[in-house]
Amino acid sequence: MRIPIIGGNWKMHRGIPKDAKEMLEALIPLVKDVRNVDIVIVPPFTALSIIDIVEGTNIKIGAQNMYFEEKGAFTGEISPLFLKEIGCEYVVLGHSERRDIFKENDELINKKLKKALSMELKPIVCIGEHLEDREQGKTKEIIKGQFEGTFNGISKEEITKIVIAYEPIWAIGTGKTATPEQADEVHQYIRELLGNNYDKQTAESVRIQYGGSVKPNNASELFQKENIDGGLVGGASLDANSFADIIKAAQK
Ligand code: PEP
Repeated sequence: MRIPIIGGNWKMHRGIPKDAKEMLEALIPLVKDVRNVDIVIVPPFTALSIIDIVEGTNIKIGAQNMYFEEKGAFTGEISPLFLKEIGCEYVVLGHSERRDIFKENDELINKKLKKALSMELKPIVCIGEHLEDREQGKTKEIIKGQFEGTFNGISKEEITKIVIAYEPIWAIGTGKTATPEQADEVHQYIRELLGNNYDKQTAESVRIQYGGSVKPNNASELFQKENIDGGLVGGASLDANSFADIIKAAQK
């Protein structure tokens, strides 16, 4: 049985520790009784100090990005060693905003992924197609390319430690959600790729989250689909009540 995982990607919001603390103090009591759902808040680096606030709760903390070296002359980058040392448990890699705005490619994401795994950080790796890919019937081709590039050289043991986030780029921050059927079809395809590249048991054990305008009113329909193991949530994770409702919708 795969335990659903809900991530709250705050992007470049609530990065002031006081704002982040306020949000968490509202969220913690709302979700304290939630069982069998992994909850991860992914704040900006400047608010990672909230790690101290979630201690002893059912909420974990992740970073939005990292570099693939531990230290050195890499101005503006964040070391996985620093993340690990401060108690960060997860790291999001290859978010479409990193790929599109900051020109990160599969090769770079693959290097980061290997480093994160070697540091025992839990990676949440994003893949997804643009609207024009979907309109041209190229969704599976794009997903296969990203899968093979991003997970190049990743062992069977390692892939089971990774959470894959399927995030159709046309649905991120747009208010346009993939229908549960559209999302499940791609999730099923990703599972097929896992089966072909590893084996059936591995394919069944890897968690695949959906991301793209998940809201309290569409979450449970999405999460009921067989291949959807929770969600990576942007906008709706900034409000404690909305995010708590989405988390509760993932409880099976
Ligand atoms: C995201 O940031 O990964 C995301 C899916 O954003 P939103 O929920 O706002 O579409």
